[in-house]
Amino acid sequence: MRREFSAGGVLVRTIRGRAMVAAIRPRGRERVWALPKGHIDPGESAAETAMREVREETGVEGRVVEKLGDIRYVYTARWEGEDGERIFKVVSFFLLRAGRGRIGQIDAEMRIEVAEASWLPLDEAPRRLSYDGERKMAAKALERISA
Ligand code: ATP
Repeated sequence: MRREFSAGGVLVRTIRGRAMVAAIRPRGRERVWALPKGHIDPGESAAETAMREVREETGVEGRVVEKLGDIRYVYTARWEGEDGERIFKVVSFFLLRAGRGRIGQIDAEMRIEVAEASWLPLDEAPRRLSYDGERKMAAKALERISA
């Protein structure tokens, strides 16, 4: 089975005393709330990818605090007219503290992939995010932040 490696971030910022997390709605999957992530480029570390993808997909800079863990899933890639190849994917997630930038201020090219980027309360993310693995990463971030 083909393997794919991505990295992403649980980007956290305190707004009016409340811990918030940046989430996106990927275009074409508009009922989905997901964490920002993307493919690890050659020569890039997973932490570097997480920071780059977070900035590109949300418009907000993030600084890595620590690694939260890896999630794994299998999906079927569908190219036009073809049956689809099964892909085993590993995504490394990092806890990031938000720095400069305004959520949703993303360039035109990124808007093709991201329909919306928004802050969600971190304590609601373990149920509002769509994918189980990402919910676990948000729960882990919540534990770290509250510790
Ligand atoms: P990347 O953001 O890493 O560049 P991508 O946008 O190409 O990736 P994915 O987000 O991995 O691709 O989505 C590919 C398929 O896997 C979609 O059908 C999506 O619904 C599903 N998927 C995405 N994230 C998860 C997850 N955490 N658990 C299970 N399935 C997922």
